[in-house]
Amino acid sequence: ERGTARLTARGLVRRYGGIEAVAGVDLTAPAGRVTALIGPNGAGKSTLFDCLAGTARPDAGLVLLGGRDVTRLPVHERVRLGLARTFQQIAVFPRLSVAENVRVGAEQRPGTRRHREAGAAAERTARALAVLGLDALAAEPAGEQPTGVLRLVELARALAGEPRVLLLDEPAAGLDSAQTARLVTVLRGLADTGMALLLVEHDPDLVTELADTVYAMADGRMVATGPTATVLADPRVTRAWGGAE
Ligand code: ATP
Repeated sequence: ERGTARLTARGLVRRYGGIEAVAGVDLTAPAGRVTALIGPNGAGKSTLFDCLAGTARPDAGLVLLGGRDVTRLPVHERVRLGLARTFQQIAVFPRLSVAENVRVGAEQRPGTRRHREAGAAAERTARALAVLGLDALAAEPAGEQPTGVLRLVELARALAGEPRVLLLDEPAAGLDSAQTARLVTVLRGLADTGMALLLVEHDPDLVTELADTVYAMADGRMVATGPTATVLADPRVTRAWGGAE
């Protein structure tokens, strides 16, 4: 079922006062693929993410999660249906340990039969820690970890819920090159398991390494969509980015 649409936006509109931050957007994140959303500051990427995740309500259009209309569902119900997200601004519980932070994610999605089995949350926590190479830090207070580690903790927390769709807002921000390399391997591996990944990313090199498909946004609209190399070479995209990226 690789290629099947897992998360879809149709005709999405979100206004702030007189501004159409998202001005009629269509997007699909398929199973087994990494999809990147790029565009200059103010293009509407965060607003689109908020509409997909449920933290913003669109003024028009639809959000479909696995074919189901979730446009009016709150965040936690989308999480239950298999959506997970990481944020540009890292938010961990500083006094909880790394493992306890990850466990929060494991307990947020009790939806399936497998998830209700005794010990399942602990197992999913352990698996997510291992995938991100965080075992050695599991018992350490999260508040004492550097930014790079906290990004991985956030990602582990998202993975602990075993999502089918993962939204990532600049996942490599603050990571060193070794951590970024690990992140790329992990994210590609997740796509290979059939997960649908959608990320906002500014670094074209990282987009090239990671993404199968790119959606390029400017002024609330999609200016180009298609295979990564094609979109990154599109003059409309380089123009919108102003060569500053
Ligand atoms: P960045 O790369 O800087 O995060 P972005 O592509 O994510 O930018 P958005 O943050 O979605 O862009 O912003 C799109 C437009 O909507 C901008 O003009 C912004 O000022 C406006 N906007 C976003 N959120 C709000 C809000 N809560 N209230 C008012 N205007 C907003």
